[in-house]
Amino acid sequence: MKRIIVVILMMIVLPLTLVGCGQEEVKLSEYTLNLEYDEEGKLLKGVEEVCYVNSSDTSFNNLLFHLYANAFREDAKNKPYTVASQNKAFPNGESYGDIVINSVKSGESELKFEIVGEDKNILSVTLPTELFPEESVLLQINFEVKLANINHRLGYGDNAINFGNFYPIACVYESGNGFITDVYSSNGDPFYSDCANYKVKMSYPDSFVMASSGEVLSSNSEDGKTTVYIEGNKIRDFCFVLSKNFKMISREVKGVKLNYYYYNDTTSENSLQVACDSVAFFNENFGEYPYTTLNIVETNFLNGGMEYPNLVMISDTCSSASEYQYVIVHEIAHQWWYGVVGNNEYSSAWQDEGLTEYSTMLFYKKNTQYNENFDELILNATSTYKHFVQVYTDINGKAVDTSMSRRLDEFATEPEYVHCTYTKGVLMFNTLREMVGERKFTKALRDYYRRYSYKNASPAEMIASFEGSTGYELESFFNSWLSGAVQIL
Ligand SMILES: [Zn+2]
Repeated sequence: MKRIIVVILMMIVLPLTLVGCGQEEVKLSEYTLNLEYDEEGKLLKGVEEVCYVNSSDTSFNNLLFHLYANAFREDAKNKPYTVASQNKAFPNGESYGDIVINSVKSGESELKFEIVGEDKNILSVTLPTELFPEESVLLQINFEVKLANINHRLGYGDNAINFGNFYPIACVYESGNGFITDVYSSNGDPFYSDCANYKVKMSYPDSFVMASSGEVLSSNSEDGKTTVYIEGNKIRDFCFVLSKNFKMISREVKGVKLNYYYYNDTTSENSLQVACDSVAFFNENFGEYPYTTLNIVETNFLNGGMEYPNLVMISDTCSSASEYQYVIVHEIAHQWWYGVVGNNEYSSAWQDEGLTEYSTMLFYKKNTQYNENFDELILNATSTYKHFVQVYTDINGKAVDTSMSRRLDEFATEPEYVHCTYTKGVLMFNTLREMVGERKFTKALRDYYRRYSYKNASPAEMIASFEGSTGYELESFFNSWLSGAVQIL
């Protein structure tokens, strides 16, 4: 359909049904979240106004949103934890939660919606009128999240309440593939989203301290309730954590305010220092962190950590200064590889996890004061990987699948996922660095960061970007690693 026809059609239908957002120049979608946390009921009530911008080349009659919170249902088929980690996940016995969609409106009109997907994981909204490329539509989604008592991205534990992936977030639309609607997985981080602008108003009992994505613009306290106003621009997701136990220390690095919220870490100054050193190192080597705030948040999370834009969760199960340190560097590296440069974490987890883990090792290569020897880290990764291949080949009685380019649900076990994504990812990027040399490798990372800032890069786009920066033909190199053809001896 040609542009002129679209314009004429718009003039006819706009006054009737379509409520645009009034900002023709806006390219990113915008989420306005009005949230209220009810501590007694362990409920988050939300009104989400989403100004969805159709930046694709096709028109839509329906919009799809992930309902990641539904993975915490008792009857969920794709649970967020493995059987092996179930005890760590539930501090007080099994507990479940979900998200309920009460209504979807456009203006005053109630819209038809359905909960679809193979695990009640998708909200499908019928639009009032066809949404053409470059047009926007304003929807209002009224929802309620019931929290499970679980040490996870979403849920309450003994020390803190995590609100990760809690609200309906638009599915990414890929030309040729349509909307990407992958389900939750106990392997990896099963997320994929576009950058958007966020405005959030949130209320919670004033006994809590709150850390979030974005920047807190103002806050006031009244009748035992704190209300905060937050803004986050060009961020891929929005997350927050509440705790009554948080202590907080801050420092600034090149105009970025780093806040460390913690309650268990007895080496908090060291943890904040490594966070500052990480931002300085990644700024210098990959490109500037483009936001004003970075919150490092200790919380009850079953293991390791978890990355969100401007906020990283650090598990309170870390048992030593060096463990806190390692997790903090890794999660902060994700601000570059996941946060600013996105990718489909479900279908190509190696892309962000492999590069993030390798970035962590590059940090230690330069920051020798942390007493982690880079060569030893690489040697350990090599021997750990070889050990995994040997043990799993012996157990299965046949060669273990070592391909990296698999969807999260195609990894048979969690160790298989970890070794093929993180460990093998490290070995792949290290081999590439040795092949093209330090200077060209750094240039490739800087160019990749610059070219794909606030976008999602497919594996092919990443490889093409690296080829352009280094002058090497790298498709066969990457393919041999990703397919599992490379043997590590
Ligand atoms: Zn990671």
